[in-house]
Parts: sequence; structure tokens; C-alpha cells
Amino acid sequence: MKKLIFSALALAMAVSVSAQEKKEYPKPEAMRPAMTEFWTPQPKVVTPGDIKTNSAPSDAIVLFDGSNLSAWKSCKTGGEADWKLEDGVFTVDKTKGDIETKQHFGSFQLHIEWRVPENITGSSQARGNSGVFLQGIYEIQILDCYNNETYANGQTGSVYKQIIPLANAMRKPGEWNVYDIIYSAPVFNADGTYKVAPTVTVIQNGIVLINHYTIRGTTEYIGHPQVRPHGDGPIRLQMHGDPSEPISFRNIWIREM
Ligand code: MG
Repeated sequence: MKKLIFSALALAMAVSVSAQEKKEYPKPEAMRPAMTEFWTPQPKVVTPGDIKTNSAPSDAIVLFDGSNLSAWKSCKTGGEADWKLEDGVFTVDKTKGDIETKQHFGSFQLHIEWRVPENITGSSQARGNSGVFLQGIYEIQILDCYNNETYANGQTGSVYKQIIPLANAMRKPGEWNVYDIIYSAPVFNADGTYKVAPTVTVIQNGIVLINHYTIRGTTEYIGHPQVRPHGDGPIRLQMHGDPSEPISFRNIWIREM
């Protein structure tokens, strides 16, 4: 009897497998090149700046075109930015404190040109020190590192005291340096920690110094970076208190992303 049951089961299974084998499924369509070509959305058209005059791209917010400092304010007084403006260039005034943009930004691409004076003096961090604070909080160091030794994580283009730049791309004092900074703003959890930490790429004179580095927190001169929740913030330029000759700036624009 047992034998009979096993035989019947075996027969039923064989019939079932055979039925499955015979069932025909639709064949997937063969891949064609067009199947992986997406036509929308098309990237917006942005007209690049004029290569001869180094002007801003068509969709940039111009923060300084040489004519006035109306996009900026004094951090000290909250009034108009009062650094020295001459011949299309403005220069840090060491009696006036930092300046920052009136407008606040989230993620962006920033272009900023800066010059160490030819007659620069001092050494290490006391030589042409300034900085670009992203969202007013995270400093990308500006310093004259042309034949000037200092701690590596405080060099030109460092995320100050957080990351050592990949290169020293300084031009000589008296020549213009160019920063192109690509910054992604952080997203915070309800408890104030980073859900997505801020990241930054820094290019100086066409050379990558920082390659999509994750910023760990606030810029601190003493102590470790802190994580503090914040929203959009300004671009802040540093007035450093060292006695060396001050840095100058020109041609500043930003593209929001
Ligand atoms: Mg600095």
C-alpha cells in the first residue's frame, strides 16, 4: 500500500514539474540603447562668463563685481560693510572686523579671488591670514603659504583644523589666487546631530585641494569641532588679527544649488 502511495505522489510531482516547465513566461524585451537614454529633465542652459573679463555665469548671484560692497554687511555693527574699496578691489580693514553677505545660502558653488599683498610680512598663521566661512560657520582657510611653513591642517585651502589640503597651489604674493568652492549644506536630525553632514570641495587656481570632504563640525581655534544645528547662512570673510598686511578680494559670485 505504502509503495502505491509513493508511486502516486511521484507521478503527481512529475506531472506538476512537467506543467511548470511547459508554462511559458513572456520573454523580457531585448535592451536597446534608447532604453537607458533619458531626455527629461534637461539641464538648464547657463551661459558661462566671458573668459577674457572673467565675468560671472548667467545664473550667478554677483556678490562683488568691483563697484560696491552693497551685498555685504559688517558683522560687528550690522551696518554697511566698510572695508577699503579701491580700483575694483576691496581689502580687509583690520579695525573693522569680519564682513558677511546680507543674503543667506544653503548649498552652493562659490567663486572668489584673493590676493596676498606683495609686501607681506610675518610667518606661519600670522602671514596673510583670512578665511571664507561657509554658511558663516565652517572656515576654508586663506593664508599666504607661498614659502611659509605652518601646521598642515591650517594651510591655505584647509578646512581649518579639520583637513589637510591635497596640494599647496599658492601663487606668489602680489598675484591673484582663485578659489572655487562647492559646498553641500547639512541636514539635521531632530536631536541636532547631522543626518547628512556638510561636504566641501575646494579648488585653488584649478588644482583640487579638498575633494568632497565631510566637514565634522564648527571651526574651532581651541578644541574640537562641534555639531550645532543651523539653517541657511551667509558667506563670511575673516578679518584676522595678525599684524601682517591685509588680504584683498575681487570677482566674487555664487550659484545656488
Ligand atoms: Mg583664517
